Amino acid sequence: MGGLWLLEGSGGPADPTAKLGPDPLVISSGDFAALLGSARRQIKALLLDQTAIAGVGNIYADESLFAAGIHPRARADRLSRPRRERLWAALRDRLNESIRLGGSTLRDYRNAEDRPGWFQLALKVYGRPDAPCPACAHPIRHATVAGRSTHYCSHCQKF
Ligand SMILES: [Zn+2]
Repeated sequence: MGGLWLLEGSGGPADPTAKLGPDPLVISSGDFAALLGSARRQIKALLLDQTAIAGVGNIYADESLFAAGIHPRARADRLSRPRRERLWAALRDRLNESIRLGGSTLRDYRNAEDRPGWFQLALKVYGRPDAPCPACAHPIRHATVAGRSTHYCSHCQKF
């Protein structure tokens, strides 16, 4: 009973969904490009920031950055407009694919990787350190970016 009362109080614990940013299927390409343009930080850190964009987990970020040809350490605000839009499309493509495989809606999940369909996606870079890049055959790099285990191709993914 005490817990209920706490949740109802205006000074109680904040609703964890209250500060979430828009999810990639809702935000427009123009708003996404504007968000990146005002973010003076690494693109991977921005993608993982749930208050900026909701529902992008670590694997999802790596796979989308690879699909868009963007280095995970690239500064968000220095990406050209076409590259920002390419990343927007890559995020949507990955998410739509997992929805198709899992048959659920995004709103049910805080993190795209919790989705049932996610684990059926063929991962191109994540978890494949030193394996040949599927696009260029250079070895996939593994590093820590934004405090998270990160996989990328230094040949295909540019700053
Ligand atoms: Zn490559």
